[in-house]
Amino acid sequence: MSADHNIFITEETIEGESDGPLADRTVAVKDNISTEGVRTTCASDMLADYVPPYDATVVEKLTDAGATIVGKANMDEFGMGSTTETSAFGPAENPVAPGHVPGGSSGGSAAAVAAGEADLALGSDTGGSIRNPAAFCGVVGIKPTYGLVSRYGLVAYANSLEQIGPLAPTVEEAAALLDVISGPDENDATTHDEGEDSDYASAATGDVDDTTVGVPTELVEGADEGVRERFEETLDDLESQGATVEEVSLPSVEHAVEAYYVIAMSEASSNLARFDGVRYGNSGGFEGNWNEAFSESREAFGEEVKRRVLLGTYALSAGYHDKYYKQAQDARAWVKQDFDEAFQSVDVLASPTMPTPPFEVGDSLDDPLQMYLADANTVPVNLADLPAISVPAGEVDGGLPVGIQFIGPAFGEEEIIRVGSAVEN
Ligand code: GLN
Repeated sequence: MSADHNIFITEETIEGESDGPLADRTVAVKDNISTEGVRTTCASDMLADYVPPYDATVVEKLTDAGATIVGKANMDEFGMGSTTETSAFGPAENPVAPGHVPGGSSGGSAAAVAAGEADLALGSDTGGSIRNPAAFCGVVGIKPTYGLVSRYGLVAYANSLEQIGPLAPTVEEAAALLDVISGPDENDATTHDEGEDSDYASAATGDVDDTTVGVPTELVEGADEGVRERFEETLDDLESQGATVEEVSLPSVEHAVEAYYVIAMSEASSNLARFDGVRYGNSGGFEGNWNEAFSESREAFGEEVKRRVLLGTYALSAGYHDKYYKQAQDARAWVKQDFDEAFQSVDVLASPTMPTPPFEVGDSLDDPLQMYLADANTVPVNLADLPAISVPAGEVDGGLPVGIQFIGPAFGEEEIIRVGSAVEN
């Protein structure tokens, strides 16, 4: 592994265009977010030479706010993974835990912040890809409520689940970046007026008096012992600052990983159909018939991407749709309902962000199923369209970071920012 931890796929400076709120800040941007004139690869051989003709809305907002973009960050190919090891440009390394993965799929973004290569970063979170690397690299990451941040210019993996969001060293800095990127966008019909004149940064008061934190037992039981210890200590600390902690139950989350992967793979199989060598991606050449040219072009996908396109196509195919996709949608509705009920009695929910500390490099690639199960605590949030933050909560095993996750009700960003900032007190 090179000394730079393989954080960036492309290092190129895009200067800010004002002396706005981010005038003195540098930002790393995940390489699935379009940058006009700067290649945007999604860490795939398929897009190794793709140069977008336009900026994503969030990139425009960054430069309008005066930020300087310093590079396009490494990631799992098309966002499919939890370790940044499925990148066609080689894995990124965790700068604070050498020999370990930085998490994923926004591993390069989190590593850039942890290594001081950028002040701030943007990632995308379809099923945990901001919170997981934030936890593994010991930084803060926010997955916004679905619709708070424009997805225009984000290369789609599973568009009903994903949001772009901030990574930063502190809760307040992450919140300030969210202030810049949130708000309605005429180019993304799923965006919401909420967030238009936001002031999330001011919510980082560290005040948890009269706050009730619910702990879903189902999201704690499966975690490693050391992770659970850090989690319990953090809750004790919040109680000593005036919060009330109580147990709640979310029975549906037992089915969240299955439902998430059926939905994510189904959407991926449809979204990735555009990479056919004609519309986008490497041309397979035009000799022979369409099917041959199409399949030749799609050789450029890595193993994990191929697996997901195949499984997703299967789940959506005639005769199987009701058995898989429809059931997954029913489970998604159930998860949403469970969260709604929990928020009748608590202000935020808390869990370990990840059930384990960062994996060792190379450990995860042989067993995709094991990898999918590591997303148990992050994917329910995406199924329910909710906001969540991961904040550093200490270390285990001599220096491996652990994160605590707070989940809020829809558009409850201020709540999770407030409670998250109390962890830093
Ligand atoms: N690990 C999950 C997956 O592979 C989440 C990825 C993401 O949020 N982009 O789908």
